[in-house]
Amino acid sequence: MATGKGNKGGGHRHEDCCSFCGRPRREAALLFRGVDSGANICDRCIELGYKSLAENDMLQESAKRQKESFAESKIYKPAEIKEFLDKYVIGQEMAKRYISVAVYNHYKRLMAAEKAGDKASLTQEENNDVELEKSNIVLVGPTGTGKTLIARTIARLLNVPFTIVDATVLTEAGYVGEDVEGILSRLYQASNYNLEATQRGIIFIDEIDKIARKGDNPSITRDVSGEGVQQALLKILEGTVVNVAPEGGRKHPDQKFVHIDTRNILFICGGAFDGIEKRIAQRLNTHAIGYGRRKTECVDKENIMRYIQPQDIKSFGLIPELVGRLPVLTYMEPLTRDVLRNILTEPKNAIVRQYKRLLDMDGVELSFEEDTLDYIVDKAVEFKLGARGLRSICEAIMTDLMYELPTSDRKQVNITREYAQSKFERMPVEVLRNAG
Ligand code: ADP
Repeated sequence: MATGKGNKGGGHRHEDCCSFCGRPRREAALLFRGVDSGANICDRCIELGYKSLAENDMLQESAKRQKESFAESKIYKPAEIKEFLDKYVIGQEMAKRYISVAVYNHYKRLMAAEKAGDKASLTQEENNDVELEKSNIVLVGPTGTGKTLIARTIARLLNVPFTIVDATVLTEAGYVGEDVEGILSRLYQASNYNLEATQRGIIFIDEIDKIARKGDNPSITRDVSGEGVQQALLKILEGTVVNVAPEGGRKHPDQKFVHIDTRNILFICGGAFDGIEKRIAQRLNTHAIGYGRRKTECVDKENIMRYIQPQDIKSFGLIPELVGRLPVLTYMEPLTRDVLRNILTEPKNAIVRQYKRLLDMDGVELSFEEDTLDYIVDKAVEFKLGARGLRSICEAIMTDLMYELPTSDRKQVNITREYAQSKFERMPVEVLRNAG
């Protein structure tokens, strides 16, 4: 209370000023005097107080409504989650199964948290429910194999806010770059400033392997910044309440903060972990593919990634505490030719379907010959452009048509292999590579 404030400079007697803002009686329209306390309050402070009470009521009301809408929301079973993922993500069976279970368990955990909230008045002995740990996920696999796509698709199904951050831009607080807390600002913005929703959101942290500690032995080649970022991430992964600047950026004293509880935010981390196969192979006491000297019968050397374990990402340079907070570990398979071919046409929003839809809006019926689709996949494989390359190749093929068709009379277009080839060959491969 700023009781002394009114005496500053103005020289007013204590009883002639508002005890809250220090305004003298002559500047206030009204000044109420407390009966026994001797404290005063002016009209403006009453109004402010009233407004914040109303605001608080509104906040509580909206929090209650959000809670109710969550309680009413559908809980998807693992098979239903996987079925939804199948519509968008081709292949990656193992990863999709793991994630479906992890997300289902995450929901159970949210339910349990909700119940625990209702039982908040119980004593520890009365409330002896088993505490469910968070099922944060790590997806290990080459770039362009669908890690982000899986995370994004899950968020779409669950209808929760979702944000993607690149671990390489994260720094410890106080350094140039983005604070780890900035991730939460982004999620808060993605939720349209809805605190309840933010606290149940999903954060995808890409390139988690790039903040690995260099070298297995922390005391010799210690990569301070990487480890510092891991430590900072650890806190929010574990679950803590963080003061977050809603608009992000550096904190400054007059800024209003929101307090975001990260306990129920699901983290999905992705990384290529280049060379991790060798570590897995070493652990399995065999040799990486191509160095095979000793044959170990039961190890499928073609699929070394299947054997990935938490200790492998630890030996890659993630600190043990962080690895411990990422209990669901699964891998992404490299995309085979067949998978790439399916990616072109199968997913609900497959590239080919998107072009058809675009031209349909101009009244043009578009078709691709099977041969053309094979050609597109061949080029993506030949130039190692991956799934992202499929789109850039299609773009190279389709751009001229998309320019010309809206002002022409053509109602039907069939893309032949020859046409595709003529357009593709005019495009420098470097451009396609960078477009991905
Ligand atoms: P990552 O995060 O592994 O680097 P992305 O998820 O960003 O890869 O994939 C890049 C693009 O490639 C996606 O937007 C999608 O169009 C396509 N893609 C990659 N993998 C798949 C897949 N398994 N199924 C369908 N599309 C895929």
